[in-house]
Amino acid sequence: MKQIMPKTEQPNEGMWFSWNNIISHSYRRLLRPENENELVEAVKSAGSLRMVGNGQSSADIAAGTPTLIDSSNYAHVVSVDEQTRRITVQSGVTLRTLIAEAEARGWTLPCLPDIDTVTVGGALATGTHGTSGGAHPLAEYMVSCRIVTADGSVREIDESDELMPAVRCSLGVLGVFSTITFQCHLLYHLRVEERAVSDLEWTASYRRWPADYDFVRIIWLPHTGYGWVVLGERIESDFPVEERTAPRYIKHRRELSKLLYKRTVRRPRFTRLANKALRRLFFSHRVVSKGTLYGATVTKARASTLELAEWAVALEKFDELFAELNRRLESADNNAYAHIPMDIRFLKGDDTWLSTAYGRDTVTVGCVTRNPEHADEYEAFDLVESLFLSYGGRPHWAKRFKAKSAELAPLWPRWNDFVRLRRTMDPEDKFLNRYLSEVFS
Ligand SMILES: Cc1cc2nc3c(=O)[nH]c(=O)nc-3n(C[C@H](O)[C@H](O)[C@H](O)COP(=O)(O)OP(=O)(O)OC[C@H]3O[C@@H](n4cnc5c(N)ncnc54)[C@H](O)[C@@H]3O)c2cc1C
Repeated sequence: MKQIMPKTEQPNEGMWFSWNNIISHSYRRLLRPENENELVEAVKSAGSLRMVGNGQSSADIAAGTPTLIDSSNYAHVVSVDEQTRRITVQSGVTLRTLIAEAEARGWTLPCLPDIDTVTVGGALATGTHGTSGGAHPLAEYMVSCRIVTADGSVREIDESDELMPAVRCSLGVLGVFSTITFQCHLLYHLRVEERAVSDLEWTASYRRWPADYDFVRIIWLPHTGYGWVVLGERIESDFPVEERTAPRYIKHRRELSKLLYKRTVRRPRFTRLANKALRRLFFSHRVVSKGTLYGATVTKARASTLELAEWAVALEKFDELFAELNRRLESADNNAYAHIPMDIRFLKGDDTWLSTAYGRDTVTVGCVTRNPEHADEYEAFDLVESLFLSYGGRPHWAKRFKAKSAELAPLWPRWNDFVRLRRTMDPEDKFLNRYLSEVFS
């Protein structure tokens, strides 16, 4: 049969780089489909492929196959249903576009990540989430989707389909998302207050916050004894709020952090001093703002790169884990010192097979290095991984971790079902790169 190539195929071989240049892979073909037929032909024509979103994952999950399908030209809003508040988009649409479309109609999605440049395909595939007592990862707001499976057929999946809990967070290994329909909620406004709170104080109070607030985030400042607590409560849009902006010098935080953390490559212990200085300078004021969830809580511009890990643990285990984390990060027996911030967020339990919140209310804890090119030597990543694994913690699929199938399998009750389903849907391993083969072997 004559192979029909999408007209937008780039014939040249090339190199693919993740957003912070930490991961790179050569590819033989880069395809940019513009419609579903072209997406289907792209999948059919490839022996082994990955679909690429915006490349903002720290895990090696987006490339590493001879064929790459880039979703940047497959990025339109398909339809909007005013009656049901549902929006259908092509999977290359960014979260920024989706939220703009929703907010223009007085709608929102109630749990947004801290980044709006990600594609919805990439975000769903990896279990991308925000924070709130009652909220879920973005994928839970998908009510139906069309996926292109390994044999090139298109499958429509809705909430009544038994595949839905598997497909919602599936790293593109069951098929690639074509279009996705989201169930939006009515737009609401928040009064958001941010301030530094001592560890003693926030650890005594955080358990009731998910019930009391619509947005709860603790930007933990390791080695300082403080967290930067961000709490958002729902208000009427015309409710008067006395806003307090951050001091003007705050804009220099990233620059100074970068300068200080550079020194921590050779002298990891210097992190303690750097964090204390950064805390005093940049995390000792109070900010009050008002806006939508998107307007008031999602970062719109990111000047510097970083490398990220994130782990999730059952809510009831968090106190014990946090005490041990703190103790081990402070211990002089190792070189595991952690840069600011370690982001602590909350999710409601769900039934998505590979969700970090599967079956339990969950606390997620981030870990970053500001020196991405030295991430391999950053001992905090290893400490956090071994500690969370010992508490049954689950890694964020898009972020950095070393565990492979043997360590991952016991963490998710539906792991074996997922692995079996993957083998049935993709018997030739079309959607696996080397990293994903080690995860799902
Ligand atoms: C600065 C920063 C902040 C972040 N903040 C958050 C946060 O607040 N919360 C959170 O949970 N995560 C966060 N992340 C992680 C981020 O949401 C994920 O890495 C997300 O997957 C990135 O989307 P992307 O479009 O760049 O996807 P990519 O990294 O390009 O791809 C991710 C995965 O999705 C697959 N994929 C892409 N498109 C499709 C498709 N159409 N069908 C099937 N599979 C597909 C890829 O093959 C790959 O496996 C953050 C990352 C960064 C760099």
